[in-house]
Amino acid sequence: MGSISQHLAELDASNFKVTRSTTLRDVPLPGSPEELSHSHCTDHMVTVRWTDTNGWETPEVKPYQNLSIPPTASCLHYATECFEGMKVYRGYDGKLRLFRPDCNGQRLSNSAQRSSLPVFKFDQLKKLVAKLMQIDGPRWLPNPGTFLYIRPTMIGNGPHLGVQVPKEALLFVIAVPWPDISSKGLRLYASTPDTIRAWPGGFGYAKLGANYGPSLQAHGQAKAMGFDQILWLFGEDRQVTEAGASNFFIIWRDASGKLELVTAPLENQLILPGVTRRSVLELVSERLSTQSVGSLEPLKVVERTLTIAEIEKAAEEGRIVESFVSGTAYFITPVAMIRNVNTDISTLGPNGESAGYTTLIKSWLEHIMFGKEQHEWGYVIEDGEN
Ligand SMILES: *Cc1c(COP(=O)(O)O)cnc(C)c1O
Repeated sequence: MGSISQHLAELDASNFKVTRSTTLRDVPLPGSPEELSHSHCTDHMVTVRWTDTNGWETPEVKPYQNLSIPPTASCLHYATECFEGMKVYRGYDGKLRLFRPDCNGQRLSNSAQRSSLPVFKFDQLKKLVAKLMQIDGPRWLPNPGTFLYIRPTMIGNGPHLGVQVPKEALLFVIAVPWPDISSKGLRLYASTPDTIRAWPGGFGYAKLGANYGPSLQAHGQAKAMGFDQILWLFGEDRQVTEAGASNFFIIWRDASGKLELVTAPLENQLILPGVTRRSVLELVSERLSTQSVGSLEPLKVVERTLTIAEIEKAAEEGRIVESFVSGTAYFITPVAMIRNVNTDISTLGPNGESAGYTTLIKSWLEHIMFGKEQHEWGYVIEDGEN
């Protein structure tokens, strides 16, 4: 940071320029082709411009519209892009809530830094989202127990084709109805050594578009073979990192018979530090690590490197109890099986039944998200003046 940066304006979401849409869009019905398209956004969007001479400008709420950027824009050539995935929930008490939005704000700012884009005060992101939802929430999210998907994004959009740190950037926030897909059990396809998602010193820990483009071909091939997601392995020892856009968990008995909830660690920066992942670990530590819940025995929470060979061995020895993935988009979803090269590994418990841990953890989170449990992780969006 040079000395000029001291005079740059901070991102400040206490003040907005608002332009209301005069032609409101149709709200898609649940399950309709528009909803399933994942592209039918709400009436408005938030944009905030940044320049390296002035810093962050006043945020704007304006009708949803195409962006205009020069063909030389940095993001189109050098992948100066990062994003977030959040949801806004309509609670059973009628209130709109975000789930731990400061975690997303912090992560977006970290991702921006890793992709040479400007950082910002992370607590401002939730205010940008809140403003958009004060305007679009009443019409687009009227029903308790439903949600919209929110996509905050930052791009380098300056016109300089020369290879350099972007001199201009745009932060925007859009909201889109998202189908509530629930699966009884995902089928994961373990990645092969010729396709690596992330590596030490890389950027697997940041939510960058650059992590995704190069992984979509493998995803498409796995889909064509009837699998739901790639399970990304890393290294000679085939470490299990994460699955698609979600973190991976397994519940098994260790060699001594003790029940563990195991997931990959953050320290080596290979995986995305999911907000849902963190919440699962914190809730299980707090509520299920020292006491049973109903008939469910306590779980020891373990963040460590685990390999596909360990999972295969545990399956052979009948020690796997359950497996699931976590993430905002697909929430908490059980995993039924993993194909590794030519071996199909069942990750269901004895007799193909789940013990109930995944369901319990999912319900804890849902209660917080939809306001059935008042919790500090639920950020209530106050009504706007509509
Ligand atoms: C977004 C994402 C996740 C899940 O993160 P959440 O904060 O829980 O939504 C996991 N892995 C990858 C690669 C992701 O992009």
